[in-house]
Amino acid sequence: MASGILYVVGIGPGAQDHATPAALAAIADAEVVVGYTTYIKLVRHLIDGKEVVRTGMTEEIARARAAVERARDGARVALVSSGDAGVYGMAGLVFQVLGDLGWRRGDSPELRIVPGITALSSCASRVGAPLVHDFCAISLSDLLTPWPVIARRIEAAAAADFVVGLYNPASGRRTRQIALAQAILRRHRAGTTPVALVKSAYRKLEHSVLTDLDTFLDHEIGMLTTVLVGSSSTYVYEGYMVTPRGYGNKYTHDGDVRPGQRPGHSLVPGEPGGEP
Ligand code: SAH
Repeated sequence: MASGILYVVGIGPGAQDHATPAALAAIADAEVVVGYTTYIKLVRHLIDGKEVVRTGMTEEIARARAAVERARDGARVALVSSGDAGVYGMAGLVFQVLGDLGWRRGDSPELRIVPGITALSSCASRVGAPLVHDFCAISLSDLLTPWPVIARRIEAAAAADFVVGLYNPASGRRTRQIALAQAILRRHRAGTTPVALVKSAYRKLEHSVLTDLDTFLDHEIGMLTTVLVGSSSTYVYEGYMVTPRGYGNKYTHDGDVRPGQRPGHSLVPGEPGGEP
């Protein structure tokens, strides 16, 4: 039997302009395209004449299995996810299905994992430069992860002063988690901490709001929203959300090195910084 290829493809946030040429080439090369209906719609202009396996949101396991089996039997298959398929995407499930089948490297199918722009990057670009210093991503979905585990991670991220990107913040039925997350973060950060809500970045009906930790729950937050919570040094400038990299700790605005600091060497702590 011919060896098949399984492309696991992230198509970015939405519009084709933000899918990589490699992602588009993978879809073009595939004979079979598998994905959640919304994502298939985003690439519908690329799939004329191909066999398309569309499935709903809750059929992820069936979708991954269908893609793996078709590819194992010799087809070139593209399994399509939004953003990056390796970030809360289908790539993990592919390995589970392969494991169940006893697949080994060198067996059919050949795996090709194609990266895409994840929501954190696309959403950040819409509101400024919020991720320029240390950040982490946390999914608020407790469908597959127990809430106490998620709460512990929010607590740790909040205490360690990370910028926090919240994926899957809420859905029609699931609205409690974002309120609990707000309460945890608020214990560690000022109520004025900048918070951005970015819905459907680079898609139709895109909408962004720049607000703060005390009041962001007053705005609509749903399945297509990513929530970006600033660190203690994140600030708002001309309607943009910015987290400084720390240049102001070492250099003055004129570009001179601050007293006691040396370029190319570790920052000497305790000196007054030029950035918040
Ligand atoms: N693999 C995807 C993430 C899937 S989890 C990626 O890498 O982006 C689904 C969550 O991602 C959504 O609940 C939302 O929080 C976020 N998301 C995905 N696409 C988005 C977009 N275009 N705009 C805003 N948030 C998005």
